[in-house]
Amino acid sequence: MVEPKVTVYGAYWCPDCRRSKKFLGENFIPFRWVDIEQDKKGEAHVLQRNDGKRIIPTIVFEDDTFLVEPSNAELAKKLGLKTEASKTYYDLIIIGGGPSGLTASIYASREGADVLLIERSGLGGQAGITVGLDNFPGFPEGISGQEFSDRVAQQARRFGVEILQAVDVERLEMEEGYHEVYTSDGKHYHSRVVLIATGATYRRLGVPGEDDYIGAGIHFCATCDGPFYKGASEIVVVGGGNSAVEEGLHLTNFAEKVTLLVRGDRLTASQIAIDKVNEPNSRIEVKYNTIVDAIEGANSKLKTIKYHFKDSDKMEELHPAAFIFIGQIPNTTVLKDYAELDTYGFVLTGHDLTHDEHLGEHSPLPFETSIPGIFAAGDARHGSTKQVASAVGEGAAASISIREFLRRSH
Ligand SMILES: Cc1cc2nc3c(=O)[nH]c(=O)nc-3n(C[C@H](O)[C@H](O)[C@H](O)COP(=O)(O)OP(=O)(O)OC[C@H]3O[C@@H](n4cnc5c(N)ncnc54)[C@H](O)[C@@H]3O)c2cc1C
Repeated sequence: MVEPKVTVYGAYWCPDCRRSKKFLGENFIPFRWVDIEQDKKGEAHVLQRNDGKRIIPTIVFEDDTFLVEPSNAELAKKLGLKTEASKTYYDLIIIGGGPSGLTASIYASREGADVLLIERSGLGGQAGITVGLDNFPGFPEGISGQEFSDRVAQQARRFGVEILQAVDVERLEMEEGYHEVYTSDGKHYHSRVVLIATGATYRRLGVPGEDDYIGAGIHFCATCDGPFYKGASEIVVVGGGNSAVEEGLHLTNFAEKVTLLVRGDRLTASQIAIDKVNEPNSRIEVKYNTIVDAIEGANSKLKTIKYHFKDSDKMEELHPAAFIFIGQIPNTTVLKDYAELDTYGFVLTGHDLTHDEHLGEHSPLPFETSIPGIFAAGDARHGSTKQVASAVGEGAAASISIREFLRRSH
């Protein structure tokens, strides 16, 4: 376990505290959380730092400096994250610093292309928050997602990729064959080619109360928030697929028991994961055919998860924290109403577009979208297999198509 170098003093009811914790979590910055409602010494510390004022979050860093109610941009600056590019024009701009984006950046930069990679949170994407990668070739003992991501990012930097973090790409435009990439901090950059490697995001239940308790009892990332529940008697996991089962198994490291609420009548995870759940000492109980109805709490803290059984009026409730793993939504808003997407929002590329009547003369290369010069790879792409190894493979393959595109357009 990495020793936290940052301490966040706050309270469970404070939205800015939740935002700061989320930002630190997403950027893989280990931090210690002190709830000043529960911790009198913590409260005294906040009062002492703020001339007797009880302002939260107060965030104290390794060098004993501190920030009070910082914006995400201020936090990024303090943490030394690079948020501004050195130039305005690049051969290739990659949006997304997960396995596919980072791999494409290594290939393209190593061949001499000028590459800017823009990531809105922590490098590594979903792989970065994966507890352990057991199925990535070359690591016979497995590797933690965090270490894997650090290594790939290090390799990208070695080949000269310029990487921005905590910067969100909001919009794309095309002007005279060049693409313009607009970011959340009001800047924009130009390139010949853009690679969409934006992956996917956790799906929410959409039940009353869910949004109110995110970070205060409702979680989507066991790696980030699981340790907060060390010693808990029970944790709920909602979902029955791979993520739910794997993360449920991981959460047994912290809680005595994990209860899985599964909408269907079976688990849809890999057989290895299902076998682990079914081991006599797994400490996981599965409740099938259950539908979560509401999440309730008091004083901004989760108290109750209410659910019922399908085909019956039987209602039940549980009172621990809940981790929700019910699928993903592609992060493709930048392409909405621009490039062709499938009905779920995943990006169509290459052969998927062969019969598209809107394309005109444009005959897309493999991994190229319906917009010439915009490519897509990894989990955001229609037909991708949602694994680290395949995301890495798609990043490499897309970069070869990008090389061909650049060669043709010179
Ligand atoms: C809990 C969990 C466990 C998993 N376990 C395994 C496993 O054991 N083995 C395995 O092979 N796979 C596993 N996977 C799947 C694997 O992590 C993904 O398939 C892989 O990370 C996809 O890579 P990607 O680069 O396509 O997308 P992501 O990893 O999703 O990366 C996309 C990146 O783009 C960024 N981004 C999105 N939109 C924007 C924007 N507008 N501006 C800037 N940045 C943006 C995101 O912040 C993100 O960092 C797991 C996934 C999860 C969630």
